[in-house]
This record gives sequence, structure tokens and C-alpha cells, in this order.
Amino acid sequence: MNNHWRIPLVHLQREYAWLGDRLRTAIIRVLESGNFIQGCQLDQFEKEFSEYIGVNYCIGVNSGSDAIYISLRVIGVGPGDEVITVANSFIASADAIVRCGARPIFVDIEKDCYCIDSQKIEEHITPRTKAILPVHIHGKAADMEEINEVAEKYSLWVVEDACQSHGSDVNGRKTGSIGNLGCFSFYPTKNIGCYGDGGAITTNSPELSERCRMFRDYGRVGRYSHAVTGINSRLDEIQAAVLRVKLEYLDKWNERRRTISMRYREGFERTDLVLPIQESQRGHVFHNFVIRHKKRDVIKEKLSGEGIESAIHYPVPIHMQPSYQPYRNIRLRVSESVCNEILSLPMNPWLTDSEIDTVIDQVKLCLL
Ligand SMILES: *Cc1c(COP(=O)(O)O)cnc(C)c1O
Repeated sequence: MNNHWRIPLVHLQREYAWLGDRLRTAIIRVLESGNFIQGCQLDQFEKEFSEYIGVNYCIGVNSGSDAIYISLRVIGVGPGDEVITVANSFIASADAIVRCGARPIFVDIEKDCYCIDSQKIEEHITPRTKAILPVHIHGKAADMEEINEVAEKYSLWVVEDACQSHGSDVNGRKTGSIGNLGCFSFYPTKNIGCYGDGGAITTNSPELSERCRMFRDYGRVGRYSHAVTGINSRLDEIQAAVLRVKLEYLDKWNERRRTISMRYREGFERTDLVLPIQESQRGHVFHNFVIRHKKRDVIKEKLSGEGIESAIHYPVPIHMQPSYQPYRNIRLRVSESVCNEILSLPMNPWLTDSEIDTVIDQVKLCLL
């Protein structure tokens, strides 16, 4: 994926070099067990991840996209419904709403945190609104207290897209445990990833948990007995085994990400770069380290020339994608304007201090 970069965004080879022995042992144990779907690795992982997030239930699924789709289906989102979300996310957030036959309603974002602007939610609520789908973008927790308050006032469901925020928190409560349902992706490049596709749903509701469990497994209630039309979306044993090993290190990895972010922050002091907001109430696990500057394209080009990978999360807001043609005319001032200035710098727990300093130096050269 990233072999030709001197300093890549993510560094899965270093992760593997560091953890390979334990991962190989875990995978081989699954191969020898002859059990590949819904066995004890999944049971154990669901138990461990629910404890980590601080909820009563976790349901492993095939991807973050499916986690969102299943969550919306089990709260009854369907044709005619509206779900409030943002346009500056990975497209999967909005696609899950469309897959339910419902309409995403895009709300603008905070200009300093890039999360949904909770002050603008209320004006978008209609009699058709069924749920709010906030995204904890880049690892920064959305304004969940305000969001839950609005949701309560209008009797809406809250489904958290926590696909970038494993371990982040709001006043000590982990993202994925604050709304009615939390959705996680274990795509390999996430803060905790498996070796393929994977995802999970977290909740404190026994009813919603049961419905998710049924829905991910063909609506099954008995071997050949199906209560609803569901889908096949399961987290397999090999992926669950990989995730169990990695979960032990998630806090440590997130801590390293925060340390790296501090180093970037100090390095960029006295520049006019806009840096990510870090405050204690709404946590940040730095899935991405996003800077903002008018000379973004110059910086990106310069880094690339030096063998340093960078990325734009995301270059085109969802409502301006060809697949969202009918939304083309809505205006989201902040979401649209930040697209031209944001840049994600290398961020992963395996970056060395000297690599970070190299990135800092090269960025600063562009600001002279
Ligand atoms: C990665 C991601 C998803 C989708 O997860 P997949 O596992 O790739 O389906 C959804 N939302 C956000 C914010 C993501 O970053």
C-alpha cells in the first residue's frame, strides 16, 4: 500500500514487525480450530470490546459501513425518513442512510473541530427526521451532550459513527457508548484494524443488540428459522482473533498518537497553520492529524517531492459527489471551504521522533 513513501501516512508493516509473532500464533490457532464463523474468537472479542467501550453489548459485523446500515435498520429507518449527518465524512456514512431508502440531511460543521455543528441541527429537523448520525471525524469526539439534548427534545435516535474514534471520549464516556448505538470500522488503517474488512456495533440496549445480532445473520432466530429479512455481515474468527491481540495495545497506540500530535503542535508554534483543537471535554485520538492553510497544495506537493505521504480528508464533500447529484444545490459554507485548505499529515504510532521532525521542517519550508 505504501512501500514507496519514505514517510507514509500509516505504517502497517512496522505494526506487523512489532506484533507479528503474536498475530501469527492467534491466526494459526483459528486455522487449527476449523471454526471460521461465529465461534469463540468472536464471542470473546465482542465481550472484550464492549468492556473497552463501556457498554453492555457489542455485535461484530463485516465493516463500518454495515455497522451504520444495520444500526439504522434496527431503529426502523426506511423510505420517507430523514437522517441528519455531515457532508465532510467518508462517503459510507451517508451511503448507509441511502441504502435504507432514507434521505441524508447534511448539516454544516464546526470550523475548528470539523464535527457536526450542534447549533445547526435543530433548524434541519422535520416531522420526517428519525435519527442523528454524528461522525467523530479524525478521532475528535462530536458535541455529544448537545446532540443528545436535541435528540431527546425531538425524540430522535442517535447513532454514532465512531469509525475513526476508537477510544476517544466525551467527559470520560467513550465514543460509541453515548448515543443509542455506536458504529466502528476495523478497516486496516483505522486506530485498531484487522487484516481485511471488519466492524462492530455497540449499545446498552438489549433489544437493539438482539435485533442487530439477528439482522447480521440473515434475520436468523434458529438454524433454518428467520424472523426478519437480514443480511450476511459477520466478523469472522480470523479477524476477531487479530483484533483481540491488537485491542490490548489500543490505549498505548492512542497515547503515542497524542504524543505525536503534541510534537507537531510544538513544531508548528508561531506559524499561521490552523492546528487541531485539543481540549479535555471532547477527546481526540488523532486518527488523522489535520492542518489547515491556504498554501495547502504547495505543502502537499513539497511533501510528496520529499517522499512524505499526505492526504486530504476529504477533497469533495459528499453532497458534491456525482452519486449525490440531487444534493448539488445545497450550500454548506464551512464544509465546502475547508476542503481547499485541509491536509492530513503522517500519523501512526510507529512514526519516529526524527520522522515527525522531518515532516515539520518540510511543512515549515513552504510557509517562508
Ligand atoms: C472507515 C469509515 C467508515 C466505513 O468503514 P468501512 O469499514 O470501510 O466500511 C465509515 N465512516 C467513517 C467516518 C469512516 O472513517
